[in-house]
Amino acid sequence: MNLFLLMQKIAPYVQPYRWWVVATLVLTLMGSLIAQVNAVVLDRTVDAINALLVPEGFDWSQAAHILVVISVVLLGKEVLAALIRYAQNYFGERMRIMVSKDLSQAVVDRILSYRMAFFLQSGNETGRLQARIDQGVGSLSSTVQSVFIDLLPLFTSALLALILMFAANLYVGLTALFIVPIYIAVTIAQARRLKGWRVNMRKFREMKSNGLVSILESMNVIKSFNRESIESEKQWNIQTQFTDNQMLVRKTSFRFDGLKTLVQQVGTVLIIILTAYLVLIGYPGMTIGKIMYHVMLFANVTAPITQLQRIFDSLNDALIYAEGFFDILDAEGETEPSGTYRPTEIKGNIQLRGVDFTYPNGTKALHNINMCIDSGKITALVGLSGAGKSTIVNLLDKFYEPDCGSILLDGVDLREYDTRYLRDHIGLVLQKNHIFEGTIEENIRYGKPDATTEEIIDAARKASIYDQALRLPKGLQSQATALSGGQQQRIAIARMFLKNPPIIFLDEPTASLDAVATEQIKASLDAIKAGCTVIIISHSISQIIDSDMIYTLREGRVEQSGNPDELYRRGGVYKEILDASARSLNIGKLAQTLGATYTETPR
Ligand code: ADP
Repeated sequence: MNLFLLMQKIAPYVQPYRWWVVATLVLTLMGSLIAQVNAVVLDRTVDAINALLVPEGFDWSQAAHILVVISVVLLGKEVLAALIRYAQNYFGERMRIMVSKDLSQAVVDRILSYRMAFFLQSGNETGRLQARIDQGVGSLSSTVQSVFIDLLPLFTSALLALILMFAANLYVGLTALFIVPIYIAVTIAQARRLKGWRVNMRKFREMKSNGLVSILESMNVIKSFNRESIESEKQWNIQTQFTDNQMLVRKTSFRFDGLKTLVQQVGTVLIIILTAYLVLIGYPGMTIGKIMYHVMLFANVTAPITQLQRIFDSLNDALIYAEGFFDILDAEGETEPSGTYRPTEIKGNIQLRGVDFTYPNGTKALHNINMCIDSGKITALVGLSGAGKSTIVNLLDKFYEPDCGSILLDGVDLREYDTRYLRDHIGLVLQKNHIFEGTIEENIRYGKPDATTEEIIDAARKASIYDQALRLPKGLQSQATALSGGQQQRIAIARMFLKNPPIIFLDEPTASLDAVATEQIKASLDAIKAGCTVIIISHSISQIIDSDMIYTLREGRVEQSGNPDELYRRGGVYKEILDASARSLNIGKLAQTLGATYTETPR
């Protein structure tokens, strides 16, 4: 990232506020003009009062006149300056805040449009993304203010003071002109020196933020293993590196700041000596008042340049943070792919032909998968953990695209489908479904934002959450995040009832539930499954056994396929899993215990 590129990227965000920039610039130019008034007034005052001091005594009325004029000019100038400062700060700050808002919203919109693979790439972990966005928005918006609002008036102010110095006396002007480049050179050297450490600061900030997010997300694991001290130590190490780096930045900054003050003071001393010398030798136009005048003008030359350091720092930060930020904002090829095909009806016949898939980290999860999933039927994917079952569901939902091979839905390649349209027709229930901050009703409504209250109650009833919700003090208005895992799962199912899609993917929907909740949810799912194309991944025998077709997977390959009875007879992974499940259920003993008293309750 260089300065030109940075400005090019920022420009579209400043464009809507260009008239504010113009207004602020006009105001600040006026401000820099009247900033020179003090020096001129002081010069005139010293000389005028000096002229009054004659041995015969002076005229009080003349002195009073001088003092009144000075007071009026200086106070008037201050009032005007205060008004200008207020307007300038207000416009500048308003612009910074607006640009910051636009940048934040732009990045949120972009992130929402990215494909899932983007979030799996290393460096795009939640905490890191968050830090890059926060720091990017912060530093870019303050750069906008520094560059578009502060920079030009600073230069103008310095230039104006310099011109006045030359107008007053050529030698004095030359002395100032000689000091200024030294001052700027030191400022540039400082910025260069700090650059590497500032890049490190960005890295450490991201690490800190990611570390914290990861602690918050895994609090129960940390506590259950009593690993607080290990986590604390990890953070401590990052903090220590961060603060060491920070101290280095500060130490170097202070050293350079000291050097700059020294250069400035040497300049002031040179100007005093030179002017005093010119006064003493009776150089034309040189009076005592000129000493003050020149010193003040010189301060007007160096003061803006001191501020230049702040702009330099802000620009350097922006160059560092902008790269990470615009990598997120303008990530090439990360936008979710979408076709345009929107059929009037989706039947749900799915075919996978020679599908291979590799995750962004290089794990090859699927090898040459061939499957045929029939419309209106229940197809189960069976296999040990890590066999690739969830990956298939991810591909079918178009979260990822296959490396090779094709996936056809009703005979048309999934790539050709309008992605949003496709997902409108697919329901997905996972082992753990995300419940958003908000009420039960709001969470169910996520399935269909324009649903009526009746529809929501109906969906809640079908998902067996309605009666339970009514028992809570606030009914459907209770906070959903405070519910148990089973209740949250029912909310996810109620969402699906509202959505009512023709294709349903169930990825271990009851894996984390107890037997009673499992039975209730199975009943809800059985109701929703009717007439739909269903793919179910489950370790629960009862759910697999109900399916019309089973595919067994091992290490990313399809091993067997067929209906449950046929597959069991043939032996293989399915038989192994079924036998193991029966043994783990202790089915012999169970049958004995249940004995004659067990009666099947109708679902
Ligand atoms: P299953 O659902 O059968 O338990 P998965 O489809 O989740 O299996 O995983 C299949 C393989 O892909 C595993 O080797 C797993 O480690 C890998 N995998 C799953 N998710 C990711 C991911 N987000 N990034 C990288 N590899 C992954």
